[in-house]
Amino acid sequence: MTKPNIAELLNEPGCEHNHKKGNGKHGTNKVCTQQAQPGTAQGGCAFDGASIALVPITDAAHLVHGPIACAGNSWGSRGSLSSDALTYKIGFTTDISENDIIFGGEKKLFKAIAQIIDRYQPPAIFVYSTCVTALIGDDLDAVCKIASQRYSTPVIPVHSPGFVGSKNLGNRLAGESLLDYVIGTAEPEYTTPYDINLIGEYNIAGELWGVLPLFEKVGIRVLSKITGDATYQEICYAHRAKLNVMICSKALINMGRKMEERYGIPYIEESFYGVADMNRCLRNIAQKLGDSALQQRVEDLIAEETVKLDLALAPYRQRLKGKRMVLYTGGVKSWSIISAAQDLGIEVTATSTKKSTEEDKAKIKELLGKDGIAMAKGNAQELLRVIAKTNADLLVAGGRNQYTALKAKIPFLDINQERHKPYSGYVGLIEMAKEFDRVLHTPIWQQVRESPPWKEYQMQTQTKKGFDIDECLKVNLNNNILKNTNIVKSKKPATVNPLKQSAPLGASLAFLGLKNTVPLFHGSQGCTAFAKVLLVRHFREAIPVATTAMNNVSTILGGEDHVEQAILALVEKAKPEMIGLFTTGLTETRGDDMHGILKSIRDRHSELDDLPIIFASTPDYKGGLQDGFALAVQSIVSTDYSQFSSSPIPEEENFNQVTILAGSLLSPGDVAEIKEIVTNFGLKPLVIPDLSNSLDGHLGDDYQTTSAGGTTKASLQQLARSNFTIAIGESMGESAKILQQKYGTNYQVFPRLTGLGVMDKFITLLAKLVNDQNQANSLEIPAIYEHQRRQLQDAILDSHFYVSGKKVCIALEPDLLYQTSWLLKEMGAEIQAVVTTTNAPILKELPINEVIIGDLEDLEDIAKGADLIITNSQGKDLAHRLHIPLYRLGYPIYDRLGNGSRCLVGYRGTMQFLFDVANIFIDLDH
Ligand code: SF4
Repeated sequence: MTKPNIAELLNEPGCEHNHKKGNGKHGTNKVCTQQAQPGTAQGGCAFDGASIALVPITDAAHLVHGPIACAGNSWGSRGSLSSDALTYKIGFTTDISENDIIFGGEKKLFKAIAQIIDRYQPPAIFVYSTCVTALIGDDLDAVCKIASQRYSTPVIPVHSPGFVGSKNLGNRLAGESLLDYVIGTAEPEYTTPYDINLIGEYNIAGELWGVLPLFEKVGIRVLSKITGDATYQEICYAHRAKLNVMICSKALINMGRKMEERYGIPYIEESFYGVADMNRCLRNIAQKLGDSALQQRVEDLIAEETVKLDLALAPYRQRLKGKRMVLYTGGVKSWSIISAAQDLGIEVTATSTKKSTEEDKAKIKELLGKDGIAMAKGNAQELLRVIAKTNADLLVAGGRNQYTALKAKIPFLDINQERHKPYSGYVGLIEMAKEFDRVLHTPIWQQVRESPPWKEYQMQTQTKKGFDIDECLKVNLNNNILKNTNIVKSKKPATVNPLKQSAPLGASLAFLGLKNTVPLFHGSQGCTAFAKVLLVRHFREAIPVATTAMNNVSTILGGEDHVEQAILALVEKAKPEMIGLFTTGLTETRGDDMHGILKSIRDRHSELDDLPIIFASTPDYKGGLQDGFALAVQSIVSTDYSQFSSSPIPEEENFNQVTILAGSLLSPGDVAEIKEIVTNFGLKPLVIPDLSNSLDGHLGDDYQTTSAGGTTKASLQQLARSNFTIAIGESMGESAKILQQKYGTNYQVFPRLTGLGVMDKFITLLAKLVNDQNQANSLEIPAIYEHQRRQLQDAILDSHFYVSGKKVCIALEPDLLYQTSWLLKEMGAEIQAVVTTTNAPILKELPINEVIIGDLEDLEDIAKGADLIITNSQGKDLAHRLHIPLYRLGYPIYDRLGNGSRCLVGYRGTMQFLFDVANIFIDLDH
């Protein structure tokens, strides 16, 4: 590409930019010659523009001749979709080295072309020159020509070194390659009087698919799509169309003008955005094709679509009316999006005119009215200034400005290359309305704008106003809970694909959080074996559980002997510091008097005097894992440990102990996170039960016949000295009450520890406990949590684009269900349906009208149409049948590693959960 060629493209007479105001003469507008300014971060280069225009040819290979920067940093980033071939998605580059720069890259280029043809057999290869290969003078034309002849495959040079200019120029360079090497090289099977080409429409997010059916309906045939969702072949015969329709872009205007010169095809410039533009586009095409019957069909279609559209848009128009928007995009889109937004009742307060022609500017002026701001220059600061000045509710711009909006904590919608939703045509306007509605009304904004309670406290202390921190902490953790979730018990006689695990399993899990302890199932051996297998598969650890091994004789005569033998055998072989003993369905049905049995065993065996045997009644037929876990914790905190010590319990000085009751919703990794947070405040956490170092997955030195870590007997003996109890999980509330009754310890229940607002309260409470202890008048927050809070805010902003508006179905135990559903609700997701295992008071407070106490079959019935299912690994098959992704949570998770260390609570854990879920949706989008 020579200098005069480039100058010709820059002076493209078809481009409105080059029409000098008023005098009708042509000149070069700054927009077209635009070069990046040193010291600024500017838009893409000419290579970027060329690939935007050509990569959407889906069956062709696109080979970038240059060092890794050009292709390595850009391949796979385009939002163009394909209905068939996917070759365009493969990133090809010659990745030239220092040697190639010295000796020339032509040989390597030739070999690269051969390799691609040999392996992928594309119908054509586009070869892009970039800065370095243009600079060293590689003869692209010659290499492409020889390769074309040698391999009988079109190899098309695209002269697009970045240094020649902007993205716009690159678009035109791509158009030149199509004109010189592709268009006119083949003939269509047949032609019709209604054949048109669409030029400059790249099928971003599938936009073409919203308008092609309209053309088909009225009998217009799109002969060549240049280039969205195009095949190489269809572009070859573009010269046989009767009309070129340039879509929303002046960038390929050189193609329109030159095809008119070469083939006599007239061109018109149209937009697919908004009702008015779509109507105008259809009418103009029909009028240009000059067929009155076609014009009538178009009128009929417009009338039909208008009625449908008004109906579909009515609810959105109501919700969007009066919202204020700043638009920052280029060219034709500036005014066509204004008109679409105004169709929806949105007030556009400002827009960019940086890349607009005089004609565009006139339209913008007319649409914005006298108070509208037309921004001639644009950078982040200017944009933020205009947003603030116009009190805008929303920024609509290209992806580059996304983070400008988010840092300003205002909703953002991507309108350019990387957008994920199609906005063109009539259906596109409905999609646009939905997106505006979703981003404007997602509940995250209140969260990310609010300052944390400790900041309020600090501010109000400075201004000498009272700030009642106790009142702040009392406030319900979900401000708008209606407490009216309807709890429906599944009435099926048969449970199909059970969701629930047994209460004894839950009790065993709780006892595994006590150090040097063995959970002892009082039942027959199968219950223990199944529970052990489930826990081993979940944690991938040896699980020390034991059974009283009831048999047919003891089932009739009573289980006392078996309990005694089991305890004595455990003491002899495993030497536990504590035993957690709990019943099963069999022994409860039999009616063993466990307190009596334990008393008589103790009377007979003084060697057990120092051994706490903590007993919980957990029949399998009552409740689920969460209930058994909670009952075991109640037994743990009810036990008087002073009776199991022959020596006096030492008093500690400066006691700053806080009891943490860690519910079954917490994984070992969660517990570790909570312990770390509490410790970082200078408090001493006494966690019950502490799964964090018993089931967190670490290699021990010896084979363990008791639990590897957890709450020690010595620390349980200090239970009375805690200053406060924090119960995590509603099911821990009862245990907190027991501690209050026994020792007078005040408590607070946190039904969950995920989410920004909830974590803020947790952090504030810890700061207050320290403050009370020191009798100070300030809330000191460790810097790490101020930072983590900001990280979570950022994660909320980043992930809401993917999570908000998604329909989620959840099947989990009550506490975990509550935690997960509220967090997703706060992110703007729609909780489509939920299933749980057993009844619990917290179920009344779910962010949904109805919860089913049921099984995975119930989940399968109600999950149809959801975007995501959240449940344990047993949900894998149903998710597969429904073609819905599964996020694994709860027990058991046997097909994923790391369940012991996974952390989904605290600021960090919440962030992890949001990223996990958002990444699933990102995968789906791609
Ligand atoms: S400016 Fe040059 S080197 Fe950089 S990406 Fe564009 S073509 Fe490649």
